[in-house]
Parts: sequence; structure tokens; C-alpha cells
Amino acid sequence: MSYRPQASHFINGQYVDDTDGEPFDVIYPHTGEVIATLHIATAAIVDAALDSAKAAQKEWTALSGTERGRVLRRAADIMRARNRELSEIETKDTGKPLSETLIADPASGADALEYFGGLAGTLTGEHIPVAGGDFVYTRREPLGVCVGIGAWNYPIQIASWKAAPALACGNAMVFKPSEMTPLTALKLAEILHEAGAPAGLFNVVQGAGSVGHSLITDPRVDKVSLTGSVPTGRKVYAAAADGIRHVTMELGGKSPIVVFDDAHLENAVAAAINGNFYSTGQICSNGTRVFVQDALYEKFIARVAARMDNAIIGDPMDETTTIGPMVSARQRDIVTNYIRIGQDEGARLVKGGKMIDGDGFYIEPTLFADVTDEMTIAREEIFGPVMSVLRFSDEQEAINRANATEFGLAAGVFTSDLTRAHRVAAAFEAGTCYINTYNLTPVEAPFGGMKASGVGRENSKAAIEHYSQLKTVYVGMNDVEAPF
Ligand code: NAD
Repeated sequence: MSYRPQASHFINGQYVDDTDGEPFDVIYPHTGEVIATLHIATAAIVDAALDSAKAAQKEWTALSGTERGRVLRRAADIMRARNRELSEIETKDTGKPLSETLIADPASGADALEYFGGLAGTLTGEHIPVAGGDFVYTRREPLGVCVGIGAWNYPIQIASWKAAPALACGNAMVFKPSEMTPLTALKLAEILHEAGAPAGLFNVVQGAGSVGHSLITDPRVDKVSLTGSVPTGRKVYAAAADGIRHVTMELGGKSPIVVFDDAHLENAVAAAINGNFYSTGQICSNGTRVFVQDALYEKFIARVAARMDNAIIGDPMDETTTIGPMVSARQRDIVTNYIRIGQDEGARLVKGGKMIDGDGFYIEPTLFADVTDEMTIAREEIFGPVMSVLRFSDEQEAINRANATEFGLAAGVFTSDLTRAHRVAAAFEAGTCYINTYNLTPVEAPFGGMKASGVGRENSKAAIEHYSQLKTVYVGMNDVEAPF
């Protein structure tokens, strides 16, 4: 298997390369083969990307919102028309099964382009009457040049979730995908260009943290939006702070799902399976601490274990596969190490737990029971297919334990008691909470973290606040008085 991207970067409306940049390989996680080799952006590439973004932003912001929106909606249509091709590239890049990428990745990117395309023409300021017939109006203005930095788990979705609101508001963007999964962001750039975006409006440059750092510290940059881990978030936030840049931080999690005795068992089991094993567990908002009340505890574990037997692990290009490999050998080894720690610290390994032999980066979906709050697997983000089940007795205890973490990305509650459901959702310290379902992220709903899990919100009208700024214009209607 191989894949030939046109070039490493997309700048000023075209694919470009600079072979002075250090080469890096793109690896197909199913086989470990190198499928493409790209180059890390040199200083000249970064410079060209930022210059072209700066120039394109002026042209773009002079259009009406409706005209900008038309480009985004056209891009959404192109993305949908090319869904299979894009999904196949995403599967080669990430190892996620085609059964997922065909429905979840470009499709979610297209939703964002369509949604924010629709909003673009509605963005306005307001008229504010003040004393003496004077008035104030506000103008909603773009920030300028935004930098987007992506994680490797949802490459085209992350790029689109950042580009769509940024562009709708009249900004330009330079996007750096994760060095692990550099391919589909280039396709987004190509599609936006084909849809009529001016050259330079959305640029893609490749590289790891040092390229990200050079972008976010450049004086031409007004905003930084990162999707990544908490440790990276700390560094990026600090670097952006030095230049007083706007930020959006979409970071990691260790989210709880609380299952009460009166819950619909199969729904709770299905949600825990989706919220731990979809994308081979490589999802930021996964509900990796599943608290189950006493009376349902053993039944819940038995049902999860039984349903895990139906997982189809293997070739991600086979559309019947439901569990693909981990993104990399490194990530597989990190997860395997956590599984060993879980066993050493006394958690009960109910199912899975082993690496699967072969060239691909496979690991068995893993279920731990009798996990306690102080165990490492209950405290740290594993980012792999490892579910930890913890036992609880009463509501307040469950809430306290669910919130006893530095993270606050998502949380879920399963119960048939209506008032309890809302009471628990209100008590969760998490940005996105679910009642009797889990991990759905429609573009219409705000998504983002509390506490260490992030700053700002993606998706929904809330994202507009994070990609625009208000200018106040005071209009004097009276003579100006002065004391002398
Ligand atoms: P990571 O933090 O290692 O890298 C994220 C991105 O930041 C990469 O593009 C990387 O090159 C870049 N980067 C690293 N150091 C940098 C620096 N000093 N300056 C600028 N850029 C730098 O994360 P990852 O391993 O790619 O992704 C997994 C993490 O992402 C998990 O913690 C997961 O929870 C999180 N995530 C969060 C969300 C969300 O929406 N909250 C979504 C997906 C993933």
C-alpha cells in the first residue's frame, strides 16, 4: 500500500514542497509500512504560509458574510462528494476502520463547513441606544490570522472544526496537522480552494512541535487553536500568552460515565462500549471511568464482556471491521504499559489486555473491573481501548468521585430518574454532559472542556465568539461640551 500526496504543504492556493525540510514518514498502522514521505516545513515555508494568509485575509474579509458562506457550503458539498476517497486516506493515515471514517470523519468536517457557511451571513453587531440620543453600535470583526494545530485522532474533522468557524468570521488560517497524520488536512485545503476560497486563505504546513511553536510565536498571528494533550496545551497556551493571542484549547480528558441501578442496562453498556472502544479508544471525550452502582455492577461487567466478543478486530479497509490498530507503535506501547500498571496495581482484568502479534499496531480491547480512584489507570489519560469499571453506592459519592480529577471534558449519567439525571448533569464539572447517551458531538452543540481539559468552545454559535472580536463605535449626536 502506498499513497502519494501531491506535496508536503499547501500554501497560497497550491501544493508546495521544500526538500530542505527534514523528511518524515507516514506509516500505515495496519501493516507498519511507510506509505508516504513528506518534509517538515522550513522557516521559508512557514514564512510563506503566514504571508499568504495575511494577504488573503484582507481580500476575504471584504466579502459579505453570505459570499464567504457560499464558499464554505460549496466546500461541504465537495467534501461529501469525495467522502469515500477522503475516508480511505484517513483510514490509511490513522488506522481507524473504514466503517468509522466513512460515516464520522469527512462527514463531520462537511457538517462544520455547512453549518458555519450558513451562519456566516448572519454575523452582526448590535445597536445600543445611550443617553441624550447618542448611540453605540458594535461591529463583529475577524481576529486576523489564526493558527490551527491538530491531534492525530480525527485529522480532517479537527482541521474542519477549526477552519469552518475561523473562515466564516473572516479570518485566514495556517493549519499544522499532527506529524503522525498529515494527509487529509491537505485535502481540506485543496477542497476549499476548489470551492472558491482565495489563494492563501487556508494553508497547511507540516511538522512537529517546533513548527507549531514557530507559528504560534509569530507576530503575524492573532489566534491559536490547539487540539492536543494537556501538557502540550500548557506549552502552547503559555507561548500564545506572551503575544497576548486569543486561544482555543481542546485538550485531554478522563471522563466519567455514571450508571445508576435504575439505568437501561443495554443502553448504558452500548454507550460505555462506544465511549471506550470507538476509534480504538483514541477519543478525547471517552468515558474511561465507568462508575456502576452496586446492584447493577456485576451484571454490567458481564454484559460489556459478552458484547466485546462481537468486536471484529483487523484490517481497517475491510468495512466489516469494528476495531482497527492503534495509530502508532509508540501509542500501542504506551497503552500496553498502562494495562500492565493496571494489573500491577490490583485491577481485575476481565477481558483483553494483550498486544496482538503481527506488523500492525494492534491491541485487544481491554476491560478492567474493581478499579479504584487512586489507581493510575483511573487517573491518567490512556488514549487507547481500555475501560475501567469502578463500583459506587450513592449519588453524592458518585458525583464527588466523578469530579475528583484535573480534567473536565465530558461526563455521562445513565438513570431512569428524571430529576436525578438533571441534578447529576448540573453537578458534573465537565464541558459536555450526556444523559442516557454518550459521545455524540453534533455541530449544532458547543463542545469543549472545563478545568484542565480546555479553554473555549468549538462548534455551535459559541465558536463564533472565539473567532471574532467586537469593536464598539460610539456615535455622538450632540455638541461636545468641555470644562474650558
Ligand atoms: P499532542 O499534544 O502530542 O500533539 C498535538 C499537536 O500539538 C500536534 O500537532 C503536535 O505536533 C503539536 N505540538 C506539540 N508540541 C507543541 C508545541 N510546543 N508547540 C506547538 N505545537 C505543539 O497530542 P496528540 O498525541 O497528537 O493527540 C492526543 C491528545 O489530544 C489527547 O490528549 C487527546 O485527549 C487530545 N484531543 C483532544 C480533543 C478535544 O477536542 N478536546 C480532540 C482530540 C484529541
